[in-house]
Amino acid sequence: MNKAKRWINPAIQSLQAYHVPAAKGLIKLDAMENPFPWPDKLIRQWLAEIRSVPVNRYPDPGATSLSDKLRSIMQVPADLSIMVGNGSDEIIQILALALAQPDRIYLSVEPGFVMYRQVCLAVNTRYVAVPLNGDNFSLDHATIIGAIQQYQPALVFIASPNNPTGNLFDEEILLDIIRNAPGPVIIDEAYHAFSGKTLLGYVNQFDNLLILRTLSKSGLAGLRLGYLIGKSCWLDELEKIRLPYNINSLSQQTGNFILRHYKLLEDQVRKICLERDYMYEELSAIEGIRTWPSRANFILFRATSRNADELFNDLVQRGILIKNLHKTHPLLENCLRVTIGTEKENRIFLDTIRSLAQIPIS
Ligand SMILES: *Cc1c(COP(=O)(O)O)cnc(C)c1O
Repeated sequence: MNKAKRWINPAIQSLQAYHVPAAKGLIKLDAMENPFPWPDKLIRQWLAEIRSVPVNRYPDPGATSLSDKLRSIMQVPADLSIMVGNGSDEIIQILALALAQPDRIYLSVEPGFVMYRQVCLAVNTRYVAVPLNGDNFSLDHATIIGAIQQYQPALVFIASPNNPTGNLFDEEILLDIIRNAPGPVIIDEAYHAFSGKTLLGYVNQFDNLLILRTLSKSGLAGLRLGYLIGKSCWLDELEKIRLPYNINSLSQQTGNFILRHYKLLEDQVRKICLERDYMYEELSAIEGIRTWPSRANFILFRATSRNADELFNDLVQRGILIKNLHKTHPLLENCLRVTIGTEKENRIFLDTIRSLAQIPIS
């Protein structure tokens, strides 16, 4: 037995590293990125600001200027606290660490965002996944409330709109989950910019509701900026395990800069939503494809005439990378997920999948 096998936490040894496929040279529609670059003029203004960032110094440990800007743009009520993370993934990890104790259970729904499970298992807690309804991926009220009562989870994660299914969950059921959960419920609004829906207005009514968001999907995936909003009794504790310089100076300055030009991202998001609705119509009309409605910047669909692995590979052969979800969950048999790209990328994708959805090409 090598020493790594002997000493690395067995819970971590049994995990699989998160796999990111190579995308070089491909039309990249796999990762919910905003496909639009910034205009040249904005890039010049940004570079002028970045010039003066003192990278020989540590960043502002609390990212105060960026947090304040986020507060005002996102209309965070003044009595709530906000914490910025190196992507919302880091905040998921902070939450998982902060609540971890032997015998505790963390709960989410499946098919859902894979990182909840990954992070929960890494901190040695038990992870329970409650299945969504098979036909439309909605929450089943009795099933989820029953699971919460049975397992008494220390932490509940629910993404709405959900990834990879794209649907928003029923607000009444979410509120009932919050009422029934003994511990904190994290509503992950990673796709809030596209859905326009939020539970932020409810945070003050509960002692266990926290809202998680990210700037990744609306345009800043490369910066790694996520944020958590909640009552200070929660965030003051979480602050103790956030690493002091988790947001680097360039991300702080850039985040601050683009939030002062937030209208650009809003306009891009609006365009993406229009394209999403167009893509949904077009995809739905293709024989051999079944789609589900989306409130996010991607569309889940099923290949009904072909094996999804083969269809996925055929798309890669033709220069298009999407996400293959086949075999990731029983409810996602032969399912794939396409991120909304530029108008041109979307047309190429549609033309290509029209030619592939039915006839297996050898
Ligand atoms: C993409 C995504 C995240 C992670 O976003 P980052 O801020 O880029 O780490 C979190 N939750 C959900 C549901 C996501 O889809």
